[in-house]
Parts: sequence; structure tokens; C-alpha cells
Amino acid sequence: MSSLSLRNIGKTYAGGVQAVRDLDLEIADKEFIVIVGPSGCGKSTVLRMIAGLEDVTSGELLMDGVKINDTEPKERDIAMVFQNYALFPHMTVRENLAYGLKIRRVDRNEIAERVNAAAEALGISELLDRRPKSLSGGQARRVALGRAIVREPRVFLLDEPLDNLDATLRVQMRMEIIKMHRRLKTTFVYVTHDRTEAMTMGTRIAVMRDGVLQQADTPATLYDDPANLFVASFLGTPQINTFDAALETRDGNLCVLIGEHKIAIPPERADRIDKNRVGDKILFCVRPESVRCHTDERDGICATIDVAENLGNESIVYFNVAGKDGYVAARTDSRNFKQGETAYLSFDANGMLFFDAETEQTLLTKKTA
Ligand code: ADP
Repeated sequence: MSSLSLRNIGKTYAGGVQAVRDLDLEIADKEFIVIVGPSGCGKSTVLRMIAGLEDVTSGELLMDGVKINDTEPKERDIAMVFQNYALFPHMTVRENLAYGLKIRRVDRNEIAERVNAAAEALGISELLDRRPKSLSGGQARRVALGRAIVREPRVFLLDEPLDNLDATLRVQMRMEIIKMHRRLKTTFVYVTHDRTEAMTMGTRIAVMRDGVLQQADTPATLYDDPANLFVASFLGTPQINTFDAALETRDGNLCVLIGEHKIAIPPERADRIDKNRVGDKILFCVRPESVRCHTDERDGICATIDVAENLGNESIVYFNVAGKDGYVAARTDSRNFKQGETAYLSFDANGMLFFDAETEQTLLTKKTA
């Protein structure tokens, strides 16, 4: 149980790669924070710096308020579960679990107790006398997690622990890790490139891009109120729809101009946009579930159905819109869409997002409570 403070952290590898820049992140005691971002954005580097496996080039790393930049990894009381969880092949599961405690000279009875408790918590008690090569992928992951649990660390670091698992097992292990966090009441820092994992597991998510933290907040805030276009596009499938647009007014009210269509911006959104931006080019974004498809021509944008994917409970419909590159995706519970048909699109007010065309930062000021 510990808090972590990353203050203005930078990492430059020998050879000059700047893997992490000016990272500020406060991780509260017992929090489950997920660091997510595309491959190469610096996630693992952050985790390895926290573990002490990489030196911090600049900035301060604190644990419970104490600077640990120069503290040896083994003195940090942090356990890390790697992507390439290597179990010792010549040892039984029991010996694998006990190994970390044995080299720390923990009392034999206590080792046995902790190993049994961890095995029970992970449902691997019956595997204790087996060797790793006889385990399934999922069982081996559990043993790898167990090796970290038995140490009762102050912080758990997990680096893509579910990579390369099949979809069913991934979902199952995801739930097990969430429950493990609840039971252990310890701080978890979890690295993944998988957006669904990030959204479902984290109480808070830190999104990184090219070594720079983009936004750290709850999954709901990142989804509903992304700080920039990158965060908006990174979370959510199908990806958020983006239109080149301009901010205009109509009868004194703010609206967006897409091609020849003027779309009114509802007051609760318009109030959060700086009126000096009227006339500016912007990026107007709307999530697929906020796109409404009509068959009659109203105030909608004319679109042609290119592909309609029927998923059983819902359909994802991809539209072509004249003058727009790429598709407009809509999520709908109707199955009655056919390729080549024409439809008219409108957008739900609460799903509308607006970004600066140059900086791609949000134009919405922070919500007032
Ligand atoms: P991620 O975990 O997000 O995939 P990493 O933290 O592994 O990203 O890597 C971030 C950047 O640092 C990448 O450009 C990677 O090539 C580089 N990098 C990682 N490890 C080293 C290293 N040991 N030496 C030099 N460059 C490295």
C-alpha cells in the first residue's frame, strides 16, 4: 500500500531516444491506474523506472513522499509482472511461487502459508506440484501473478500481463486481476496497449503518446471529455467520427458548419466554447453511438450506406458522405440497413466534441459542477 508521485519525469536512453518527457502523475494509495498508448509511447519505460530497472534521467520519483530515484530495486518493495513471465522450468509451481521469498530469507513456515494463500486466491492449489511445461497458458499466467502476490508488495506493476492470451481467457483473467486488486487493497499500475482493458480495468487511465502524457482521468471522463483529438480517437471502437468544420452562428446561436450543413450546438455545449472562436476552422467529432440515422430527409446530412455489419444485438453502419474522407460510423440497434441505401444523419447533442484544427486540443472548457 503506497502512493507514487512522478514529478516532471524524463527518460533519455543511451543513444538519445527520449522515451518519456516531463511526466507528471500522482498515483494514490490503493489505486488501479492503467497506462495506455500505442506501442513505443513509453509505457514500459515508465513502469521500469518505477520498478528501478531503468534510471530516471530527470525529475523526481517519490513513494509515500520519499524520493526513490536512487533506491535499489530490491529495496523498493515493488513487484512486477512482465509480459514475458518466465517461470523456472525445473521448479514446481510451489517452488516457483516460493522462490522470491526464499532468496529474501523469509521463514519456511511463513513461505508455506503465503504460497498456499496465493495459490488458493488464484485457484491454482491443485497445480502446486506440477512443473511449468505441463500448464496451460492461463494457468502459467496465474502462477506468474502468484509469484508477485506472495511478496505482499507495496505496489504491483503489471506490464501487458494478458498479451498473447486468447480472447476468452483474456476476459476471464481481466476479471481475476480486478478481483485481485480488490482483495489485496494494494496500488496497481497496469500497462497495456489494449483500449478495452484500459477502459474496463482502470479506476483511472493515463493516456500516453510519443513519451508525453496526454490526459489522466477516469474512464468516463476520458471518453466523454477528452482533452484532445488523440485521446478521443484512441478510446472507443469504432473510432470517433471526425469532420472538417467551422464554427458559425445562426440567429445568434453557435453552430457548426459541415460542408453546407449547419448544425446547432445545444446550449450546454455552446456555453463551454469561447465565442471568440466563431469563424475558426475546427474538427467536429461525434461518437458512433451518437449518430442517428433517419430514412426521411430532415435536418440531416445525406449519406450512402457502404457496409452494414449486423452484430446480432446491434449494427455498425459505415456511411460515405460527399466531401468527407473516410467513413462515418454509426452504432444502431436497427438491422434494417442495406448497402447502397441513402440515409440522413443527425447527431446527439451530448456526444458532440470540438477540437482546434491546428493544435487538436479540445475547445470545450472544463465542466462546472
Ligand atoms: P511501450 O512500452 O509504450 O511500447 P517503451 O517504453 O518500451 O514503449 O519504449 C519507448 C521508446 O524507447 C521506444 O522508442 C523504444 O524504442 C525506446 N526504448 C525502449 N527501451 C530502450 C532501450 N533499452 N534503449 C534504447 N531505446 C529504448
